[in-house]
Amino acid sequence: MPENVRNLIIVGSGCSGLTAAIYAARANLRPLVIDGHEPGGQLSITTLVENFPGFPEGIQGPELIENMRQQAARFGAEFLAGHVASVDLGQKSADLGKKLIEVNLGRETLLARTLIIASGASARWLGLPNEQALIGHGVSSCATCDGFFFSGKEIAVIGGGDSAMEEALFLTRFASKVTVIHRRHEFRASKIMLDRARKHDQIEFLTDTVVDDVLDVSKKEVTGLRLRNLKTGEQWDLPASAMFLGIGHTPNAQFIGDQLDRDGEGYLIPEGFVGSRAPGVFISGDVADRHYRQAVTAAGTGCMAALEVEKYLEEIGK
Ligand code: NAP
Repeated sequence: MPENVRNLIIVGSGCSGLTAAIYAARANLRPLVIDGHEPGGQLSITTLVENFPGFPEGIQGPELIENMRQQAARFGAEFLAGHVASVDLGQKSADLGKKLIEVNLGRETLLARTLIIASGASARWLGLPNEQALIGHGVSSCATCDGFFFSGKEIAVIGGGDSAMEEALFLTRFASKVTVIHRRHEFRASKIMLDRARKHDQIEFLTDTVVDDVLDVSKKEVTGLRLRNLKTGEQWDLPASAMFLGIGHTPNAQFIGDQLDRDGEGYLIPEGFVGSRAPGVFISGDVADRHYRQAVTAAGTGCMAALEVEKYLEEIGK
């Protein structure tokens, strides 16, 4: 058995991965957390979190995540920056006591007895012809990161869920006007968030409307959006200096390949609450949650996954 085998590797340092790290570290498992391409996950790019229990006045997302990170580190969790290219879940190994899971970071391969996949989900793009070329020049999926750059400008937000409402409300701090563009008439957003946005005098709504393209790539900045009303077919250009996407997320599970079960959109399908068909491999947070996707539910499944790791290691005598 190689000497550098970890008891536990956690892929992902969002709310779920860090909660798993706190529990596992307190159980003396010295977990290694791989940060991934969005360290801190979605909480690190959000603003005020008002629904995480224990904070009557709310807490800023980045502060909450930093607290969790420090809490995990205090008990011995270690962190490594890196992108997981692939994993080998060791499903061919018959002897669980000797089974090793390989985590390939490209530059090196790490070995562990157990793995928690808490790699979350990333913001979706519309797939417009000029969208990618204008990222960083007015196209963004992170209002918190980029809103400041559009002070006094007109901004469009795409989507009809809570993310879009949250972005629109946040962007009113900077923008002269925010137009929410949604492809249907009915909204997916919670009533409280939708009402807040509707009541805001800087926010306007365009429903039954899609974006056909974002302008103007020849100027290397966003000058407007080419829109189309789905009911009338009418097409027109809306002047705007920025387009913020709030259209949901894609699970970060590509590195698993077909080693675990995934649904049609790529979300991992856990066995029981946080188990998988690969012994020693557990799944937590938004990578397996297309339904709730809340910080507190991600934290909850992170806790469950760490407790399952402890139990599994005991069972295989480690
Ligand atoms: P979501 O609820 O899935 O909403 C995504 C929205 O984007 C939907 O309105 C959808 O339209 C639209 N959309 C998706 N693909 C599109 C496309 N290709 N073109 C145009 N529109 C498209 O995602 P979310 O808003 O990110 O929310 C996810 C979860 O996080 C929810 O449970 C939400 O409550 C939670 N959340 C909570 C807060 C908060 O409480 N502060 C903040 C953010 C998110 P359709 O409706 O037509 O499908």
